[in-house]
Amino acid sequence: MNFTLKSSAIQAEVAKLRFRTKAFINGKFSPSASGKTYASINPANGTTIANIAACDETDINRAVAVARKAFEDGRWSQMKPGDRKTVMLKFVELLEANAMEIALLDSIDAGKPIYDCVNIDIPDAIHCIHWHAELIDKLYERVAPCGPDTVAMIVREPIGVVGMILPWNFPAQMMAWKIGPALAAGNSLVIKPAKQTSLSALFIAELATVAGIPDGVLNVVPGAGSVLGPALCRHMDVDMVAFTGSTSVGRDLLRYSADSNLKRIILELGGKNPQVVLSDADIDNVVPHAMNSAFWNMGENCSSGSRLIVHRSVKNELLKKLIKYTATWPLGDPLNPKTRVGPLIEPSHMATVLNYIEIGKKEGGKLVLGGKQVRQRSGGNFVELTIFDEVKKSMTIAKEEIFGPVLAVIPVDSDEEAVAVANETNYGLAASLHTRDMNKAHRYARAIRAGVVSVNSFSEGDLTTPFGGFKESGFFGRDKSSYAHEQYSELKTIWMQLG
Ligand code: NAD
Repeated sequence: MNFTLKSSAIQAEVAKLRFRTKAFINGKFSPSASGKTYASINPANGTTIANIAACDETDINRAVAVARKAFEDGRWSQMKPGDRKTVMLKFVELLEANAMEIALLDSIDAGKPIYDCVNIDIPDAIHCIHWHAELIDKLYERVAPCGPDTVAMIVREPIGVVGMILPWNFPAQMMAWKIGPALAAGNSLVIKPAKQTSLSALFIAELATVAGIPDGVLNVVPGAGSVLGPALCRHMDVDMVAFTGSTSVGRDLLRYSADSNLKRIILELGGKNPQVVLSDADIDNVVPHAMNSAFWNMGENCSSGSRLIVHRSVKNELLKKLIKYTATWPLGDPLNPKTRVGPLIEPSHMATVLNYIEIGKKEGGKLVLGGKQVRQRSGGNFVELTIFDEVKKSMTIAKEEIFGPVLAVIPVDSDEEAVAVANETNYGLAASLHTRDMNKAHRYARAIRAGVVSVNSFSEGDLTTPFGGFKESGFFGRDKSSYAHEQYSELKTIWMQLG
């Protein structure tokens, strides 16, 4: 993408944006059945970007019906793998051609710095769809070793109608992590984007149709999660729901499934992720990774390393350098290409984050950076990067997912204590471990209970590696890699007795 754009050029691009605001069902945009709409608000200034169709159960039922029809008649599910790949590669081409527009939509809708959208989110989203498209005609099925009188084939088939419920923190990227493997596997989709961030999903759906993904295969139904979520997850004709969001809503999904048709549920949930820094760590290397881990995407990141568990002998050096480093990330208008810290998603979420900061102070955390709302006159939801030192593992800010720019520094006195504290959480999504000792790196990376452990870095891996959580961070599934592809398919045995 061309990222030499100046702020003024970006503003000009924003002025040209055309918003898709209606539901996308059966290859066409249509208003909600009720005719109702809701305002999508720009978190950077509180203004209305567009009025979006406020769909309800009637719209979900219509989308599921067309998705079911598309699945059953085989227009996508039975397409030859090579042909399906060709269509998906055309989709990738269109995404590339429209990458800047998608980046701008996510930036204004979610308050994400355009720097991140252009450099990380949208390239990763496109690469994800490309990666899964390329996989389509490279997967072989199996024949079981049953002896000469039988041919037993073990094959994979698409699951059917798959619902997808998305969060607002990485709108296009989380959509891509799900639709890439699910489309590649031949399913029909009904997608419910987060209410706050539907614009990129609606545009991407349109591009999919222009690319040749048949009508009815990829449907997007925007609206409130409390209305659409139960309608989709209790639907008797939906075979699976893939969800990324909070642990509390994840629990509801399991109930909806149990109360309806036992549809397969895949949950990618929250985290209270540890960054473990041992006494022998290379502190200069730790600093930028600790920064990214704690504050990338304003801390509105499921894999955010919001607990910095650091050996007391190196804590002061690390903290001093980290605080200095925070000054290199300007806070401001997300459309300014220099901005690295934008607003939080909405006023109510900002209030929650500020409340956690007050709790941190009351419970005895030592506030050493930030702690306040800023840029009030912008009308946006900006909170300073915030660091608490001397946090005890029993404090609320050390235990609960804040989902904002608040880092809790927890000093420890030994490696063993560091790993034990890292594991003292109900979550288990991601972790980082910093040490120069490769023996410790191997041992402790195994000992930490998390779906992704990155050593001497903060990383979620790349497209070739699965992403998902242990414990209350996830259930049953993984995003990315061939493991994601597998989870969007059913395993079937075809047993043939020979005469
Ligand atoms: P959320 O759970 O409030 O919302 C997620 C989605 O669920 C939205 O589309 C929302 O409209 C919908 N929803 C709300 N109520 C529902 C209901 N009753 N039934 C079905 N759907 C419903 O989460 P959020 O605030 O959008 O996202 C933040 C959370 O997501 C954090 O906890 C974060 O850690 C998690 N997250 C996890 C990952 C991951 O890969 N593990 C990635 C990003 C975010």
